[in-house]
Amino acid sequence: MNNNKKEISIIIPAYNEAENLPLLCNEITAVMKNIDDNYEIIIVDDGSSDKTEEVIERLFQNDRKHIKGIQFRSNFGKASALKAGFDEACGRIIFTMDADLQDDPKEIPNFIAKINNGYDLVSGWKQNRKDSFIKNSSSIFFNFVTSLFSKIKLHDFNCGFKAYRSEVAKSLDLYGQLHRYIPVIAKNNGYKITEIPIHHRKRKFGKSKYGPVRFLNGFLDLLTVLVLTKYFKRPAHFFGGFGAIALMLGSVVSLYITCLKLFTGSIQNKLPLFIAGILLVMVGVQLISLGLIGEMFVKISNKKDDGLIKKIIKD
Ligand code: UDP
Ligand code: MG
Repeated sequence: MNNNKKEISIIIPAYNEAENLPLLCNEITAVMKNIDDNYEIIIVDDGSSDKTEEVIERLFQNDRKHIKGIQFRSNFGKASALKAGFDEACGRIIFTMDADLQDDPKEIPNFIAKINNGYDLVSGWKQNRKDSFIKNSSSIFFNFVTSLFSKIKLHDFNCGFKAYRSEVAKSLDLYGQLHRYIPVIAKNNGYKITEIPIHHRKRKFGKSKYGPVRFLNGFLDLLTVLVLTKYFKRPAHFFGGFGAIALMLGSVVSLYITCLKLFTGSIQNKLPLFIAGILLVMVGVQLISLGLIGEMFVKISNKKDDGLIKKIIKD
């Protein structure tokens, strides 16, 4: 970890982006010249198999003051690349930007203005998106579902171009496909978020790494995010609620079957009901146990949790 404070950090996750990186760095340098020289560009090579590593090395040699590189041993995914960048970043404002030149660095001042206006996270909105028809339509669907479940009114959750107050970026524990839900996680942690429309460009070199199939995997992560954010604080209430209902129903059914057997000597044709009763009791007990185990996790993790407090006022 570097403690050398910067005004701006720009994190660029890159997976096979050798042709794009030099052009992108030139564009960023041109923009930053007019804003603030106290910035850093952190390129995270996510296990590329092309010449990305050499390109980063060369860019670093040409501008050691501003450029840093992080090399992954293998392709761990964009979320992990962002997390590694956040850990290394020392900027007051931390940007993330795709490596493929689709995001236009000229938008950087607009993000900074929003952060300086008091927002904790500013997310880009590719209003006029320059991708394939399939990609654009699946993205509309993804954003609709995420917005519906999270009740957060954003148009473009998964835009790679975002700016954060440092504390917000560092509070995100990203892995898997969770980068798609950063605004949901941040909002749930009580941060103030907004979005701005940005200029989006066509990919010039290299290929998109996210087709519709990879994209569908992301929906499982929506479930994770919803459970972690909405129910994480009281898992016993969430699982225990369903568990208690199942246990109650199961007990009533089992009691009925027991009475039937005691008073009539047979359970007649009630075998399916008998099985359903037993199943409900078992599921109920399991759900309640799951809730209680969840509570233990919350208790343990809350011990280390210092991310809830905005500030402490004291002498
Ligand atoms: N990326 C990455 N690791 C991966 C896949 C993608 O670091 O496993 C980077 C990629 O190099 C790019 C950004 O994430 O900078 C967005 O990827 P891409 O442009 O392929 O996605 P799209 O814009 O097509 O959704
Ligand atoms: Mg792209």
